Amino acid sequence: MDERQEEKKDIRSMTLEELTKDMEKMGEKAFRAKQVYQWLHEKLVEQFEDMTNLSKPLREKLMENYRIPRMTILSVLTSENNDTKKYLFQLEDGNVIESVWMRYHHGNSVCISSQVGCRMGCRFCASTLLGLERNLFASEMLGQIYAIQNETKERVSNIVVMGTGEPLDNYENLLRFIHLISREPGLHISQRNITVSTCGIVEKIRELAKEKLQITLAVSLHAPNTEKRRELMPVANRYGVEELLAACKDYFSETGRRITFEYSLVAGVNDNREEALELASLLKGFPCHVNLIPVNPIKERSYTHSGRKEIEAFKLILEKYHINVTIRREMGADINAACGQLRKSYMDQKQ
Ligand code: SAH
Repeated sequence: MDERQEEKKDIRSMTLEELTKDMEKMGEKAFRAKQVYQWLHEKLVEQFEDMTNLSKPLREKLMENYRIPRMTILSVLTSENNDTKKYLFQLEDGNVIESVWMRYHHGNSVCISSQVGCRMGCRFCASTLLGLERNLFASEMLGQIYAIQNETKERVSNIVVMGTGEPLDNYENLLRFIHLISREPGLHISQRNITVSTCGIVEKIRELAKEKLQITLAVSLHAPNTEKRRELMPVANRYGVEELLAACKDYFSETGRRITFEYSLVAGVNDNREEALELASLLKGFPCHVNLIPVNPIKERSYTHSGRKEIEAFKLILEKYHINVTIRREMGADINAACGQLRKSYMDQKQ
């Protein structure tokens, strides 16, 4: 991106209120702000030239002062049964991120990245292998969804912030993104159809609770106690499992929204009977949902996923203690759809 471009304001990250103030400063009528906003967030245009109900001088003024961050699709991989598509995007500064589109009975879902890379260091995850490059702007989180909706020509109705990155490590941009995607005008995706997944940054969970959003918070637990969790997730050195669970309970009482706990089953590491019992006793009585995920092996680590039998047995134990539990349907394994795998293989090739 040339320097001149960088000086311009990222218009897709701006709220309607912010845009309205700017328009007034420019001596334009306030309703113009709404028109521009609708072009950006409803008609999903990618350049000012396409905003055809604005006068040419206004379009030129916009071009001079603002930019619409371009998301270039580098590649699209489609699964054999057409229900999963994986996108590799290039950002204006050359960084590369990935997103996944999934077709479900209840609608289309997009899994977006929240950062370029990640610094959380989870042992089984490909997204973190190269560390954190930078945070994504709200416009770049939106941009993944907008570009995908333009490409598939199908409405996106669900969003999961579960791609590369730790969303609560990019907190301000995440909140701005949720605001922009869920309000009207805009795609107006209900907060109830948005899931944010975190490795469990306790003070941020508490901060988020105070926002009283209606989103679903998914917490990557992956172990029934702190000691085991430390083997898999460095973040467990900062917060113990009890402290994390206490924050989750407060989140539930503040928002009334049930927490989803993600538990990736790694063969011989966190999938035995005792661990299932310990998890059951940890979560007993707390209104929540457990999502069991057979770990997706990455070539950089020796982890393998638990067998069908072990997964079913683990599930049965949780059910016996009346814990709401499902096994994640695997989608797109044939196209490297697990966290960060596509970006990692692209970066490997480039090197
Ligand atoms: N940083 C956030 C969101 C991104 S990861 C978080 O930790 O929740 C999204 C989910 O995928 C997390 O539950 C993560 O632990 C899990 N995950 C990452 N790599 C995986 C793999 N190889 N197999 C199975 N689950 C994985």
